[in-house]
Amino acid sequence: MKIICIGRNYSEHAKELGNAVPTEPVFFCKPDSAILPKGNPFYIPDWTSDVHYEVELVLRIDRLGKHISNEFASRYYGSVGLGIDFTARDVQEELKKKGLPWEKAKGFDGSAVISQDFVPVEELDLNAVQFSLSKNETLVQQGSSADMIFDFNQIISYVSQYMTLKIGDLIFTGTPSGVGKVTPGDVLTGAIGDKQMFQVKIK
Ligand code: MG
Repeated sequence: MKIICIGRNYSEHAKELGNAVPTEPVFFCKPDSAILPKGNPFYIPDWTSDVHYEVELVLRIDRLGKHISNEFASRYYGSVGLGIDFTARDVQEELKKKGLPWEKAKGFDGSAVISQDFVPVEELDLNAVQFSLSKNETLVQQGSSADMIFDFNQIISYVSQYMTLKIGDLIFTGTPSGVGKVTPGDVLTGAIGDKQMFQVKIK
């Protein structure tokens, strides 16, 4: 399986990092080795001093497809989960300056937190899925799928023009504003609506 991540999909977040608001989706991949095993703490790697949390809605593909049209994209996923796209911001900034790929900053071990449970789409208003992240019980990020620049169907359609989507593939759909640094001892808690989706300890 593969993990596809959409970048800069909320204009307030693009602005907070000084990036232009994109006119077509920006995406990159994380390897499957990036998945943080359920219940494990997240260890800050020793080669970075600035790891940021980015809370994101995550789609799980449950049907094989390529060249999927916008109109039929909703048939390719049946549930929505929540995750964190951990990012070594200092390393990413260096790579961006040099025009190099982001994998070192985005694809390292443990950098993909994914909720155990996914919420069936029947239980959600897909145009306004509310989600949030708290750090040490203080709300730090709050988002709604209503604020995405490219919606779920547009993302699936776009990505599938380049990569075949396979059953089990995951798509991180971008983070709202409020990203920030983690330090050892922090506890991150993610929720969709009122439902807690994951909790991660930082070490
Ligand atoms: Mg992200």
